[in-house]
Amino acid sequence: MFKNFPAVEALFIGFALVFCFLRTCHAADDPQTRAAPKPIATASDLFGSQKRSAPLASAAFGSYTRGCLAGSGQLPANGLHWQAMRLSRNRNWGHPRLLRYIERLSGDAARLDGWPGLLIGDISQPRGGPMPSGHSSHQIGLDVDIWFRPSPRRNLSMHERESVWAESLIKGRFELDRDIWSEGHAVLLRRAASYSNVARIFVHPAIKKELCEWAGGDRAWLRKIRAWYGHDDHFHVRLECPAEEIACMDQDQPPAGDGCGEELAWWFSAEAYRPGPAEKKPAPLSLEDLPAICRSVLESR
Ligand SMILES: [Zn+2]
Repeated sequence: MFKNFPAVEALFIGFALVFCFLRTCHAADDPQTRAAPKPIATASDLFGSQKRSAPLASAAFGSYTRGCLAGSGQLPANGLHWQAMRLSRNRNWGHPRLLRYIERLSGDAARLDGWPGLLIGDISQPRGGPMPSGHSSHQIGLDVDIWFRPSPRRNLSMHERESVWAESLIKGRFELDRDIWSEGHAVLLRRAASYSNVARIFVHPAIKKELCEWAGGDRAWLRKIRAWYGHDDHFHVRLECPAEEIACMDQDQPPAGDGCGEELAWWFSAEAYRPGPAEKKPAPLSLEDLPAICRSVLESR
């Protein structure tokens, strides 16, 4: 009875091969039916396409450069003493602490210092995360760009909010443009640094240098004002992680002192502008590069 088994077996394998060729194997080699490999979405594609806040308790997860934001709030287009710019970018979403900071700074600057009002640039996307363009930080809703150009006393139109340019305070590479710079800018930066939950404020090195000379004996606040590339037409305020949010990762404190000495001098050296590894475009982040909880923040409905 088993005499014919090898023949039956061979017949079966033969049929299987023909079937495979006709159906699967052959089809997979046919360019008409071969599926194009699915591109892997980057974290900036995923977070950049979110239109609304994640309906969860407010919390920042991860770091300023690798993180996300749950329960963000949207900065209204107009406040009593601010106007939000570039609304089409949908980057006026922040941690509630940051929105309160904007409210407080703009109010204090108007009432106490006579600053007409703030023009607010990018904060974060509705769920934070990496952005398809422009910033490597601003990912957890605790960073905000504030224009040096004061707000006009009337409401800007939607068209103006897209088209008015932030004005640079710098001529050439390092010279402060004194036609535009005013003591009011120095007072505003000192005010912006005066709140205890401010971690750092980034400005162009020539602006930091001016503040170092202007500050006189009251210098503690200068520690928070840090020279950085760009930041000639806006300053960038970074708030500390709220103490109770243990999944939010603070940056190390700035070095002790006012940061006006050698450290600042370095920014005026050729070395600071020599192309180095920092110039290389980093590989885009994937969802796996962010804290695991960012997947839930992304998918929460
Ligand atoms: Zn910024």
